[in-house]
Amino acid sequence: MDLKEYVTIVEDYPKEGIRFKDITTIMDKGEVYKYATDEIVKYAKEVGAEIIVGPEARGFIIGCPVAYALEVGFAPVRKPGKLPRETIAVEYDLEYGKDTLTIHKDAIKPGQRVLIVDDLLATGGTVEATVKLVEQLGGVVAGCAFLIELSYLNGRDRLKGYDVTALVQY
Ligand code: AMP
Repeated sequence: MDLKEYVTIVEDYPKEGIRFKDITTIMDKGEVYKYATDEIVKYAKEVGAEIIVGPEARGFIIGCPVAYALEVGFAPVRKPGKLPRETIAVEYDLEYGKDTLTIHKDAIKPGQRVLIVDDLLATGGTVEATVKLVEQLGGVVAGCAFLIELSYLNGRDRLKGYDVTALVQY
């Protein structure tokens, strides 16, 4: 299946000059959503993932069905103030300003093999912050999987030494 056919490109969203890759046109077709999930499940098995970690909100959309299929856990990474128990936080740079991501302190067991999943790899800032959270908890990043990679933004450069896969490249 050519997944690219099901990605909708929205020009100038959320602001001028951005070509937004809309994955809802993958999700709303059961067989396409399943195909995308199954491809990431295959990768997760290859890298021996023992838990899935995904940043909000689209990391949940991809990561949760993968965790379900593998019968492993899913740990959410969220913006500050969203997780109810004790968290650790990592600050990261945005194009303008900074943002913070958090994870529950007990979400990952030391030595556990973690697959990080998100919808899209752009500059890599989000996944880099997620890697730091996982490693601060003693997790081992087994791999990083995305539906889409914007390869011209060189997000992979921030993930040197880590195993990275993406189903669709632009
Ligand atoms: P980054 O931290 O730059 O790799 O950005 C990754 C996050 O931003 C992903 O979780 C995406 O949801 C979102 N994102 C960045 N650029 C785009 C784009 N062109 N289309 C859709 N989502 C994007």
